[in-house]
Formats: sequence, structure tokens, C-alpha cells
Amino acid sequence: MSRGTLFDKVWDAHTVGILPSGQTQLLIGLHLIHEVTSPQAFAMIRERGLRVLMPERTVATVDHIVPTEDQGRPFVDSLAEAMIQALEHNCDEFGIRFYNVGSGKQGIVHVIAPEQGLTQPGMTIACGDSHTSTHGAFGAIAFGIGTSQVRDILASQTLALDKLKVRRVEVNGTLRPGVFAKDVILYIIQKLGVNGGVGYAYEYAGSTVAAMSMEERMTVCNMSIEGGARCGYINPDETTYAYLQGRPFAPKGNEWEAAVQWWRSMASDADAQYDDVVVFDAADIAPTVTWGITPAQSVAVDAQLPDLEALNEADKAIAIEAYRYMKLNPGQALLGTKVDVCFIGSCTNGRISDLREAAAIAKKGKVATGIKAFVVPGSEAVKREAEAEGLHEIFLAAGFEWREPGCSMCLAMNPDKLVGDQISASSSNRNFKGRQGSSSGRTLLMSPAMVAAAALRGTVTDVRELL
Ligand code: SF4
Repeated sequence: MSRGTLFDKVWDAHTVGILPSGQTQLLIGLHLIHEVTSPQAFAMIRERGLRVLMPERTVATVDHIVPTEDQGRPFVDSLAEAMIQALEHNCDEFGIRFYNVGSGKQGIVHVIAPEQGLTQPGMTIACGDSHTSTHGAFGAIAFGIGTSQVRDILASQTLALDKLKVRRVEVNGTLRPGVFAKDVILYIIQKLGVNGGVGYAYEYAGSTVAAMSMEERMTVCNMSIEGGARCGYINPDETTYAYLQGRPFAPKGNEWEAAVQWWRSMASDADAQYDDVVVFDAADIAPTVTWGITPAQSVAVDAQLPDLEALNEADKAIAIEAYRYMKLNPGQALLGTKVDVCFIGSCTNGRISDLREAAAIAKKGKVATGIKAFVVPGSEAVKREAEAEGLHEIFLAAGFEWREPGCSMCLAMNPDKLVGDQISASSSNRNFKGRQGSSSGRTLLMSPAMVAAAALRGTVTDVRELL
């Protein structure tokens, strides 16, 4: 029974049937694939003599393994070259649209699909990547899936899923200067915990969210999975439609009006029923930085790290582990902590508005001596736009490296890696142990502007000092 939420409306509209297991068989409107989680799935359908049922609903790009310094082929890393060749071959054989390196449309999968207008309200979207929740920013229900589910969608265009509860996460008020969408989602995860969203879809709402651009909304929805939610979404509104209009895959002519009418009808009703509602005040959110090994272990940049006694037993155990790994101590200030590497990029914060915010800080100084600072646009389109605006010149003049698009040091499945126990100030989304390519590497998550500020000072810095 529909509770009047966007989640329920989209779910019901895509339900094919109820399986004997009790799960719903859900039609997937858009299947995004990349080089990491698709090769085995293609091998499995080939073994069974199956074909891709709806190749026109599948779109591929390459992002995780691409080098960001020299993208000339063949790639220097033979494994990366083999992976891109496998994707080229699979897309060719099964008739799948592929945005390859140099096509002008390549980039991180969660950056390019919105850019192309492929991501639209009211859709179901799946991708073999955890951060597929990004697409929820448009009012889509978007799931990260595993390789066997990639196989299932290739073969049947459907997924077997359990229905989720819906939590409305409301943020109201005006964000203070120096506070960005990244701080909002880090704050939400800090308050609700990394497991707080298990079994839920998060519906982000409230006046703060309504005032956000589509790129800011993508940053928020991107990290839903870090709070345990299977997906996160924002109801479509005029901001959504304005972003989509004119994009290559957006409806055109009369179809546009009909689409907008349908999209409006899919938004949550004013009297929708939620399983839970939480409300936050934007005025309580400061520039936020993670200090630990989960995205919930964060503090306001000018706060002290939590005392162990203040934590419950479960949080205390992971905090002890985090302090040991991060070589930090309870009660100390994070502000002033020396960093080694500053990374601006990823599907969380590698879009044009992120680069603009970082450049606005970068133009105030030079990268501190001994700091490696680099900027990786989220897509070829973002890179072109940034260069047309001269942002690359600002970064280069300040001493940042300006790279080619890709996932880069978010996951470090390419040459961009931390070394030893280096500390990185990173605009990405995960600070797990070893996430950035070194088994002892340490990650501090923060907004792109905060990363730029850290690069100029060489230490964790309150971006408000540079505004
Ligand atoms: S940028 Fe990071 S989180 Fe996003 S798709 Fe790439 S590896 Fe995954």
C-alpha cells in the first residue's frame, strides 16, 4: 500500500510482481555499468547463453581504473588496460552505449549520467557501485548493487528487492558561511550513525535542502549509503527541471511538458506517511571534518575530538580503534593537524560547483611546501567547463596539479595512492582503513573548500578564516 511518499510511488510504478520469496521484482529503468563490477556479470550471462535484455537501458563508462596523469592507450598498468578492453569488448558485443576515455562524455559514472540527462525523476536506477544513491537527488530511487545483481539486470532488466522503510530527514534554515552540502551530509551521518539508515530510504527535505542546487543535492544523496541507507532521494522541483531541460537525454518538445507533469505527480504528497522523521537546524552545522575510520566519526573543525567516556559502548570500541589507527588522541584539536596530501575530486565533490568553491579558496595563496595537492574533475565535461572558466589556471598558479577525469584517490584503483601513513585531506566519501591506497594511510573527509584551505596552510584549517 502506498504511503504517499515518492519512494512508494516509484516502487509501485516499477513493480513487476511479488516473488515466492516475498521480495518485489522491480523493473530497473536505467542500468549504469563500469569496468569493475561488470566483467564477471557479462561472463555469467555469456555462460548461460543469455543476451542483454534491454541494451538501450544500459549505459557504460570507465572511471575507477583510469590513470589521471596520462590517459594514452595502452595504459601503463596492464591490468587496467585489460579491464578497459574487456568493457569495450562487452559493450561492443551486446550493443551497449559506452562513454569511453576521450569520447568527451567519460567520467565518474555518478557524474556523467546526470550530466547527460539520463538520470530523471521517478526512475529506478541501479549500478554496481555503492554511491549510486547520488541519482536520488533527482527524485529517482537508485540502488548500489553487487555483481550477481548486475548479471540479473543485464539478463532480465529487473532486481529482486525488499521494500524499505522511509525516513524523512529534514534540514531547515540557512547554512552559515563556509558550510557546504558536504558538511550537511557529514553532520547528518554523525547524528544518525553509520548504521542509522539500515533498512531505510532517506528522503532529504526542509528549506535548506530545497535551497540547494542539483550538484549540492547530489553531494547529499551520494553519501546516503555511508549512513547505512539503501538509497536517498530528494523530491523533484523547479530546480530539478531547470537542471534537466535541454540535456541530451531529457525529453524534448511536447514530451517535456508531459514528463514534468508526471515528475510532479511522483513527489511525496503533503500528507505522506513516514516510518520516521528527524529534523535538524542548519544553524547547528559547522565546517565538518572526519577524524576516524567511519564517516560518522566527525567533528566541527574547531571542536575537540570526543572523550571516550562521553561515548556509548559500541561507539567507544570503534573510537579506540580509530584513535589508534589515525594516531590521534581524545580531547585534542583537529585544527592544525598536519596533512600530506590534498585531494579534490570524486563522485561526491568532483563537479563544477565543487571546483569553483575550491578555486575561490585556492586563489588566496600557494600550496604549502611539501604538500601534494591535486584536482581531478569528475568528468570530461566538468574538465572542459572548468578550463573554459579558467579554474585550472587558478589551481595551477596556486601549486595544485590539474588532472584528467576519474575516481583517482577516492578508492585508489589507479596510480593515485597514499604512501605509508600519510594523511590526506580529501573531498571523497569514505575514510575506511586503507581506502586511499596505503594500508596505513589516513583520510580526513571534508568539503572541497576545506581541502583547498588545508592545501594552502598544510594543516587542517577552518575555511572560514579564508573567506
Ligand atoms: S569516486 Fe569513489 S565512490 Fe565514487 S564511483 Fe569512484 S570510487 Fe566509487
